[in-house]
Amino acid sequence: MSHDPNCIFCKIIVGEIPSFKLYEDNEIFAFMDINPFQPGHCLVIPKQHFADIYAISDVAIGAAAAVAARLARAVRSVVEPDGLNIIQANGPAAGQSVFHFHFHIFPRAAGDDASLNWGLVPGDMAAIEALAGSIRTALEKED
Ligand code: AMP
Ligand code: ZN
Repeated sequence: MSHDPNCIFCKIIVGEIPSFKLYEDNEIFAFMDINPFQPGHCLVIPKQHFADIYAISDVAIGAAAAVAARLARAVRSVVEPDGLNIIQANGPAAGQSVFHFHFHIFPRAAGDDASLNWGLVPGDMAAIEALAGSIRTALEKED
């Protein structure tokens, strides 16, 4: 499985960088975004390093999409957002800042006027950790 030693998400997968993990299987890893646009913002990534939509394999994107759907349901049950987007960026002009393929599970509040380049504002780590626990529990009920 390809791994890029300079990639921050590859480091998260192997535990070199800590994360608020939500889910893991042979193909996929999911964790909280530490700069959440709204509470419950989290990320789904393939364990194999693919930079973007142009590089990812059919198997990996299929597995990531299935986990994204399950995680979206879990996030909805916990944070009850007004809406929720799945966002996936390719290239800096599209807002991609980490070059390891990822789906954003992106809860929305009515009137939040999110733009596709929403900017990174560090979240409250204790609040993110607490939400991670609730989302993990909700995800287990999805099984
Ligand atoms: P993008 O801009 O679409 O490439 O999204 C990258 C996302 O990764 C951003 O929303 C960041 O907040 C998030 N991110 C970057 N570093 C970390 C990290 N160490 N832990 C969790 N999320 C991160
Ligand atoms: Zn990577």
